[in-house]
Amino acid sequence: MELMAYIRKDIKNLISLMDRKFIVDTPLRKWIKLNIYPKHNLIIKTKKEYRCTNCNKIFYDNTPIGDKTTCPKCKMKLLVRLNTLKYYKFCEWFRVLEYVDGYFVLRGFEVLSEYHDKKFSRYVSEHQRLVIGKDNIYLLFSNKFKIFLGNVWIDHSIKHTTWRLCNSYFSPWYWSAGIIYTGNIDVDINNTSYQYCDIKPVVSETKDFIYILQRILKYPLSYELLIKMGLTNLAVECDNFFIKGSFEKRFGVSKDYLPFIQKYNLTYKELKILGVIKRKNIRIIRKLSSLNYFDELNSKLDILKALNNGLNKDNESIYRDYLDFAERLKFNMKDKKILYPDNLKQAHDQLLKQIKDNEDKKMVEDIEKRYIELKGNTYKDKKYIIYPVPSYADLLLESSMQHNCVRTYNFRYANHEIDLYFMRLISNQEKSLVTIEVKDNMVVQSKIKNNQTPTKEQLKFIESWENNILKHS
Ligand SMILES: [Zn+2]
Repeated sequence: MELMAYIRKDIKNLISLMDRKFIVDTPLRKWIKLNIYPKHNLIIKTKKEYRCTNCNKIFYDNTPIGDKTTCPKCKMKLLVRLNTLKYYKFCEWFRVLEYVDGYFVLRGFEVLSEYHDKKFSRYVSEHQRLVIGKDNIYLLFSNKFKIFLGNVWIDHSIKHTTWRLCNSYFSPWYWSAGIIYTGNIDVDINNTSYQYCDIKPVVSETKDFIYILQRILKYPLSYELLIKMGLTNLAVECDNFFIKGSFEKRFGVSKDYLPFIQKYNLTYKELKILGVIKRKNIRIIRKLSSLNYFDELNSKLDILKALNNGLNKDNESIYRDYLDFAERLKFNMKDKKILYPDNLKQAHDQLLKQIKDNEDKKMVEDIEKRYIELKGNTYKDKKYIIYPVPSYADLLLESSMQHNCVRTYNFRYANHEIDLYFMRLISNQEKSLVTIEVKDNMVVQSKIKNNQTPTKEQLKFIESWENNILKHS
C-alpha cells in the first residue's frame, strides 16, 4: 500500500509539472495549419464551377461528386461534394513529443474540422498523454476523451479539467496515434543528460518508437555515440551497445568494417550476421537477415554453404525441420551430404516418412507391452471373458467388426493414457462383442457394434469386473 501511495504521488507531481510546462505555442499552431488543415478540405461543386475550400480557387472540372480531384492552385487532392452539402467532418489525430523530468511524453491531440454553413470550423484538443519512463509507461486520459461500448471519441465541446490514469485500459488500442511534432524536444532536453541525444532521426509513427524512447532514457551515451557515427538503425537498438571497451567488443567486428556498416546503415540483425560471415557483401547479409531462423540454422550449418545450396526465406522452415529429423534419426551431423542435401524437399519428405514409420513401429511394440502389463485384469465367468487388447492388429480388426473408431485410440493406449479391453463370449472368442475404455481403473465407456450401449446382462458383467478386479489393481 505504501508503494502504491508513493507512485500515485509521483504521478500526481508529474501531472502538475506537465500542466505547468506544456503549452500549444505559436510554432505548433503553425505546424498544425501547415500539416493538417489543408487535408481537411473539400471541393464544392456549383453547376460547372468547382471551388477549393482550402485556397478558394475556382476552376472547371468534370470529376463526379464523391470522387477526389486535385486543386490546380494548392495541389491538394480533395473530395468533390455538391454545394447543397449541409455537414461534413474530418477527424485526425497527431502527437507532440515532449520531455519532462526524466520522462518522454507523447501528447495525443485531435483536430476536428467541421463543414457547416459553407465553411469550416476547426477544433484542436489534447486528449491523452503517453508518459514513457525508463521502466514504466503510463497512459493518461483527459475528461475530453470519451469511451462508450468500445467507441472512442473526443468531446471538443467541453473544457479539459482532469487527467485520469488508465492502468487497466493500458492497451495499444488507446495509444495516441498520428504524425509526430518534435519542435519542442531540443529545448526540453537542453541541460539534461539527454541534451546531445539527437532524437529526430529516429522519430517514427510505429509502436516500436515508444520502446526506442525507453532505450534512449536508459542508454543515452550509446545512443548519442551511434547517432553521431551516422548509425541510426543501430541507435534504435542502443541497448545492445552499452558494453564498454574496444570497437570490436561493442560491434563484434573490427574497426575496418565501420565504413561498410555506415554505408548501408546496418540494422542490429545485419550487424550480427556480418560478425558471423565477416564478408562485406550487403546482398548476402540482407538475404540472411530475411531468415527467421538464422541463429538456429547458423548453429548447425555453414550458413554461406547453405545459402549456396538454395537456403532462402521460403524454405528455411523446411530446412530446419529436415535438420531436426536428421538429428532425431541420429544421422551424422558432420556429413556434408546430410547437411546440404541435393534436393531439400525430397530429403525432408524421406526423413519424415522414416520418422513416422519408426513411430508406428514403436506404437505397435508399446501396445504389446501394454497387454503384458494388463493381462492380470483378465476376468471370466461361464459366458463372458474380458481381456486387454493384445495387439495393434487386434485393435484394427475390432474396429472394423464393430464399425467404431477405436483404432484412433492406438496412440493413447500405447502411451498409457487409457486402457482398452475386449469383452467376448467364451463360446465365440473370435467375434467382437463389447469394447471397453478404462481410465484410472474406472470404466469410462463400453460400446457394442455401431457405438450402441451393451445389454443389461453385459453391463452387469462389466460392473462386477470393475468391482472385483479393477478396483483392486
Ligand atoms: Zn486549392
